[in-house]
Amino acid sequence: MKKLAVIGYPIKHSYSPLIHNFISKKLNAPYVYEQVETPPDELGDVVKKLKDEGYLGFNVTAPYKEKVIEYLDEVSQDARLFGAVNTVVNKSGKLIGYNTDALGFYEALCYRNINPEGKHILMLGAGGAARSVAIKLAAKCDTLTVINRTKERLSELKRCVFDCTGHSIETELSRKTYDIIINCTSLGMIEEKSPLDDLSVIGENTFCVDLIYSPWRTKFLKESQNAGAKCQNGIYMLVFQAILAYRLFTGIDVPLSMADDIIKEVLSGRNIVLTGFMASGKTYIGKALAEKLERPFFDTDFEVEKECKMSITEIFEKKGEEYFRGKEVQVTEKISQEKGAVIATGGGAVLNADNVQNLRKNGTIVNLEPEYDVIAKRLSRNNEKRPLTKGQNIDDILERFEKRKPYYESCDLKIKITKNSDKEEVVNAILKGLEEMI
Ligand code: NAP
Repeated sequence: MKKLAVIGYPIKHSYSPLIHNFISKKLNAPYVYEQVETPPDELGDVVKKLKDEGYLGFNVTAPYKEKVIEYLDEVSQDARLFGAVNTVVNKSGKLIGYNTDALGFYEALCYRNINPEGKHILMLGAGGAARSVAIKLAAKCDTLTVINRTKERLSELKRCVFDCTGHSIETELSRKTYDIIINCTSLGMIEEKSPLDDLSVIGENTFCVDLIYSPWRTKFLKESQNAGAKCQNGIYMLVFQAILAYRLFTGIDVPLSMADDIIKEVLSGRNIVLTGFMASGKTYIGKALAEKLERPFFDTDFEVEKECKMSITEIFEKKGEEYFRGKEVQVTEKISQEKGAVIATGGGAVLNADNVQNLRKNGTIVNLEPEYDVIAKRLSRNNEKRPLTKGQNIDDILERFEKRKPYYESCDLKIKITKNSDKEEVVNAILKGLEEMI
């Protein structure tokens, strides 16, 4: 077996090993791809080690795409232009750097039949990824407008695009709408925020792309879709840059059409996470969904009970809410490492930002949002078993629901639960919603 790798920091949640090993399996090719966590200050040593140990090549991800260049023997023309390397090939002991990100991005557009020629494009962000995308698009589109929080970085990008392509970019919004809008910022990865404040720039046929794929749907994509845009997340760019890198590593002409199968493979390894207020049916629906998809099922409340060897009610009574929340964080972090599971969370799990972060790394979040009368009806039946609302009247409970609603917003998909929703219907609505997200 010949060895390949990805280096970066952190690297634990990278999809690159899954993608490259899937391609090798499909082609029955003798390559094994692993991830090598590379802490700061160890980049040089790691690059040398991979070379000495005869790795055929490796991918480079954040934060080393620029810094790695100083350790290489040669850099391709594209990579030099973009000032970043994401693929290194070991040709008989000589390390050669390439960049497949920009072409990967371009192929992802083509996959959706989007041709940038003659288009008015708006890019948000002026970092490393934005630079290669802007250089790739500047010569092809009609106008390219880039906006960025930090003006100095924007001026630098403008200069760089002009030097590399001879094309000027605009740095202020000047059109009513744009044909293609691309989020190249990292805003939306951690916080539920979008870099696009003015949604009126989304026209009837606007196509919105986010380079981010974790979370699967950022606030930018959700708002763009609600405003009528067709959307694509960053997994497509990731998959196409990987196919192009695989070709460079191995010389095998992997067909771009393999992207569909690769994306299916990525999705089958992602968790489906159900969130929602108490009585929204997360466990009931989660079990049915897991059964239908033949996936394992986990419930964070059950796992806390197992761990504490007590019921949730007992934990609240004997140890208090704070203790429960601490256990919930530990259990959620552990379950988030699962692959391809259905996970039902406790109603308050999303109040903790660490829980949300962990669950979103490899999970698509589906929020079950019950109507008021569903909550009222379900809680009137078994409220005494719920430690947080025991003895409270329905108005207090609904007030709690209202307060929690903003926390439930950081989901990829929302499913309304009405008093007429039955199990089958909700499961099918989730599956349909997940499919439409691809
Ligand atoms: P980078 O060089 O660090 O640039 C980050 C960009 O985000 C800058 O424009 C920065 O603006 C902006 N930004 C960060 N925080 C912001 C905030 N709070 N408000 C407004 N703007 C903010 O990162 P990069 O390498 O270009 O990567 C950007 C994104 O693309 C990341 O999410 C990365 O994961 C993604 N990416 C995806 C793929 C893929 O295959 N799908 C490939 C490469 C990158 P300032 O200049 O003002 O700081």
